[in-house]
Formats: sequence, C-alpha cells, structure tokens
Amino acid sequence: MTVTGMGGASRRKFFASCACCEPTSARSALPMERRSFLAGGLAALGLGTVAAPAVQAQPAKTRIDVHHHFLPPTHREALTKHKMGAPKWSPQMSLEEMDKSGIAVAVLSQVQPGTWFGDAQESRSLSRAINEYGAKLVQEHPGRFGLFATITPLDVEGSLKEIEYAFDTLKADGIGLLTSYDSKYLGDASFAPVYAELDRRKAVIYVHPLAPNCCADVVPGIPPGSIEYATDSTRTIAHLVFTGMSQKYPNIRWIFSHSGGTLPFLTQRFIQQQKVQKHPHLPNGPIPEFQKFYYELAQGNTKAQLAGLSDLVGVSQMLYGTDYPYRDGAEVNDGIAAWKFSAADLRSIENETARKLLPKLKFA
Ligand SMILES: [Zn+2]
Repeated sequence: MTVTGMGGASRRKFFASCACCEPTSARSALPMERRSFLAGGLAALGLGTVAAPAVQAQPAKTRIDVHHHFLPPTHREALTKHKMGAPKWSPQMSLEEMDKSGIAVAVLSQVQPGTWFGDAQESRSLSRAINEYGAKLVQEHPGRFGLFATITPLDVEGSLKEIEYAFDTLKADGIGLLTSYDSKYLGDASFAPVYAELDRRKAVIYVHPLAPNCCADVVPGIPPGSIEYATDSTRTIAHLVFTGMSQKYPNIRWIFSHSGGTLPFLTQRFIQQQKVQKHPHLPNGPIPEFQKFYYELAQGNTKAQLAGLSDLVGVSQMLYGTDYPYRDGAEVNDGIAAWKFSAADLRSIENETARKLLPKLKFA
C-alpha cells in the first residue's frame, strides 16, 4: 500500500530545534533566534516601531502527542461497510496540525470502535492492515510518528500473533486498546494470556474509550461523547484495579485517555468499595494503583479536571495528548497554559515522560 501526502521537509528541518526548556505555545510562535533576527533587522533599518510583516510562523516542536488518531483507507472502508462514521483524515492533515501545535512526534492509534465487528478473521486482517499502514507512515516520515499497534484481545490467538508481528517486525512503540470489547472490560479474565505476553515484553498499552454497549442514547440530546466515553475509561480502570489484573502484570505501563475520564471525581466511591469488598490485593485501597497509571490530557484539561488529576496522581503521570482529528492541539495547549504549570512540569508532561515510556521514538 502507498502512503501519500508528504512535503514540507525543509521547513520542518528549519524549525526542528530542541526548545524543550522554553514552554511552547501556539502564540509564541517563532523560535527565539528568528524573533531576534527580525527585531534586530528591523531596528537596523530604522523600522523598529513598524509592525513586523506577517510571517507564517510555527512554534518549536517539542511535544509528544500520545493521543493522535489515524485512519488508513482499509479501516475507513470497514467502518463504512459497517455503517459507522469516520472522521476526515490524511497524513498531511496530521503533519500540518502537528506543525501548527508544536508537536514533534504523534504516536498513532486506531479510531473507535477499532476492528471488532464480531468476526475474528475480519478483525485480524483489519488490524494487520492498520498496523502495516501505521508502520509505513512511521518509516516515511522519520521522527514525526510513532505507533500504538491495534489488537483485539477478545481474539486471544489473533492478538498474540499480532503482538509478535507488531513488535518484532513493525517495531511498534506500544499497543492500542479500547476500554471495552462487546461488554467485556479490560479486567476480563479471558484477556490474561494477552497481558501475560505484553507483561513479558514490558509493553506500553494506550487505552482509548468508546461508546459502550450498555449506554447508547441514555439521555436524549446528550451524545455518548459527552459522558459515556469518559465513563467507559473509568469503568475499565476500576475493573483492572479491582480484579487485580493490573497488579498481576506489573510490567505493563498503562496510559489512559482524557485525564482518566471521570476517575478523579469518583475516588471516594472506589475507596468505599474497597472498604466493603476488602480485596486482599488492595491493602492500601485503590488509590495507590490508580497512581501507577499514566493519563493524557486531551479533553481533560479544564482547571477543574487538572485540579482533580493533579491531586490524584501528580505531574509525573501526565502526558500530552490532542485527540486529533476530533480535536486540535490548540485546545489542550490552551488548557495547559491556563493551569500555569512550571517550566519543569511542562517539560515532563509534554516531552520527558513520553520519551521515557517510549524510548524507540525518533525525532526529526
Ligand atoms: Zn481519541
């Protein structure tokens, strides 16, 4: 298959400096040396008070976006066949958005509902096509993309084969899962062989929510995206923790979407659940387990959301994410800017923690 939509290499190279020590913003658009050059040049010409000409400037690209979707043609065709909507997307759209929002590398992941439409063979061939397309994008755009490979753990045998292919042949950076498959959440005992293999590989799993089977059109006029996606993230986090599945496979590093969904706001209820259920694997309650996970900030970056997440896990577990093409980087950039993280915290969230988790990522 061919991946098209390249370009802008020389321009990217010009702006691809490592400015990780200066908090980036879509508004502080020019690299420092370019700003100094413009100011100095204008002053020398006696034009210091004249407004600088409009420059199509871009921010220094330092951010690593761990929540960035891609939609290979094969996946689009499958979604259309199953009468499901699909967003407009192309590689070039992603690259333009990344340049605009200061994103160095986007780690690509599937769009929901993934590849499971009830048929294991279809799911396997679709996952393979998605993963090969993603790997080709990574290869064709050095230093701009990473890949969370798609598997469907309902199909254990197919998942084990795809894990091997994704890591050993395609060199994927991690695995992308959805919060639930049919009505099974990620603590389901039948997924254990998949986790055992991912634990052995010390894999990163990025978990994306979807509209769960249980809860379509619960409240007229309130779409699933407003409540159910976030809640499905919390359901699956709770399931992993209370079943003991995440403790059983401690080498897996979990990343959850949208600041954990509704997790920060339900912690007292989960503390109470443990008081009643008294799971022996949670002697200190569920909070220490929640604190081991990572959370990206797409659509989870209002002050209320960041206050809750900051109190629950702290900056060391936060990652930068946009949810492109459903949302753009400006939204999360604005949310992060309004919270006024320190420069060190920004570096941690936007770059350093992701680099540690995903050491195979390359940078242009
Ligand atoms: Zn998303």
